[in-house]
Amino acid sequence: MNSFRLFLFLSVVSFSFSDESVISHSHHILPRPLILEYPETIETQLRNSGEEIDLECTSWRFAVEANNLSPWKTIPQECGDYVKEYMMGRGYRSDLDRVSKEAGEYAKGVELNEDGKDIWVFDIDETLLSNLPYYIDHGYGSEVFDSVEFDKWVEKAMAPPIDSSLKLYDEVLKLGFKVFLLTGRSEKQRGVTVDNLINAGFRDWDQLILRAPEDHGKKATLYKSEKRNDMAEEGYRILGNSGDQWSDLLGSSVSIRSFKLPNPMYYIP
Ligand SMILES: [Mg+2]
Repeated sequence: MNSFRLFLFLSVVSFSFSDESVISHSHHILPRPLILEYPETIETQLRNSGEEIDLECTSWRFAVEANNLSPWKTIPQECGDYVKEYMMGRGYRSDLDRVSKEAGEYAKGVELNEDGKDIWVFDIDETLLSNLPYYIDHGYGSEVFDSVEFDKWVEKAMAPPIDSSLKLYDEVLKLGFKVFLLTGRSEKQRGVTVDNLINAGFRDWDQLILRAPEDHGKKATLYKSEKRNDMAEEGYRILGNSGDQWSDLLGSSVSIRSFKLPNPMYYIP
């Protein structure tokens, strides 16, 4: 027992001496705690700044979805990695699933008339079809929109479906809604758009409305409102509307219920 105590004592003494020798080498240069904590402080700062950017970009994305932002052309530069992670990770898909699920619940609860005038309006890009393969190559919205480049992508008719939207689409058709597709794409792109929709699994829509020459240059909110006004004048009842932009949903002849799909990559006024 005594020898154990002696061992402990010697250990403490030798530790103190070795500790002392560190101090004696350095205490007149920098105070010891600062030397020992320096690397950890940098790490903490880096971690905190990462958390800070994450927090700010989450607030920014919330403001996008709540339509609280002034018109914007690109995502904030510091949110590039954040948006990429959101789009490629589980967040985007989970948010999409939630929107379609809620829309489906609502659709099931609606009592339809027998006259075939109850309709559901769907936008196309980032609502039925995903242009994520294009945006992967264009910085997830950190580059200013290039309509020439984007049209080349549209011409390929290769956009995959948004699966949760395809499910909702089939559900509302089965329930007896008529489906109208209302897109900002040009009438010139009708052929490739039909091909792409069919290849992606979308069928049996009642109308596909694209921008005619006289619609070019109109803000999306106005163009889409005018088209919905026409539907209302023809006696259709717009009971549901799905779109990734507020300009798909706001304006006149708005739907009884509107469903906003997530899209932090671009803004269309
Ligand atoms: Mg869209």
